[in-house]
Amino acid sequence: MSHVLHYGSGVFEGIKCYKTETGRSIFRLKEHVNRLYESGKLYGMDIPFSKEKLINGCIDIIKLSETSDSYIRPIAFYGYDTLGVNPKNCPVNVAIATFYWGAYLGDGALDKGVRTTISPWKKFSVNSMPSIAKGSGHYLNSMLAVTDAKKRGFDEAILMNEDGYISEGSGQNIFIVKDGEIYTNDEKSSILLGITRDSLIQISSNIDIKVNIENLTTEMLINADEVFFSGTASEVTPVCSVDENVIGSGTPGEITMTLQDIYMNIVRGKNSSYSHWL
Ligand code: PMP
Repeated sequence: MSHVLHYGSGVFEGIKCYKTETGRSIFRLKEHVNRLYESGKLYGMDIPFSKEKLINGCIDIIKLSETSDSYIRPIAFYGYDTLGVNPKNCPVNVAIATFYWGAYLGDGALDKGVRTTISPWKKFSVNSMPSIAKGSGHYLNSMLAVTDAKKRGFDEAILMNEDGYISEGSGQNIFIVKDGEIYTNDEKSSILLGITRDSLIQISSNIDIKVNIENLTTEMLINADEVFFSGTASEVTPVCSVDENVIGSGTPGEITMTLQDIYMNIVRGKNSSYSHWL
């Protein structure tokens, strides 16, 4: 009878904890917890714990688990008071789970890349739901897109938005590389503002690769030298094709793999310039 089960009225986070030489380390925990509270605020949901308590909850559950690399899933959701769509007095419940989650887009995806398709399902409009909130119900849109892509033999879907621009993958942000520069979109294209996306934008600037934030068109995607997905679970995954179009040489590109390498070294505690993210 929980409200969330009927209407998807929850907000959640996906966080990763990696094994490093000095012990296990959670990547950008504070930023993830901040986004959880911002998602809640966008839905008028008051999370009945302080951010510090939630941060400590994530740390405590990692201490209790024995997995070296883990995914952490905090979720705040409306429980039962009413089944009216207005949650009124429904309690806000919070749970945190942790478990091992291997390569999100399948074994070999990080090295070999993935085959994608443009989804017949459009990304929901920012005028309908706030895409920058990580809302449970939002994922029905993603689920339609990814199950359609899988049925047709692809690894992942790319959703266009209602304005005809590229939005994102079913659970990843998207980046295009052209002539040595990087292009990605922002919340105006109905995306979740990924924390991995933000990390890669900062890393790229620090290695003098220009990042252009603008609307992405299908033409840009098809004519790209490289395309990659970013996400907590997907990390930095090369995209090798979009429907029948091969991207660049059809193998993971140099800038993609450079960023993947830097990112993986950072999360594994091997790059002291970014230790403040751990
Ligand atoms: N977009 C969507 C729809 C997602 O589900 C995710 C995964 N959380 C992302 C983008 C990437 O966000 P992040 O880098 O914060 O994991």
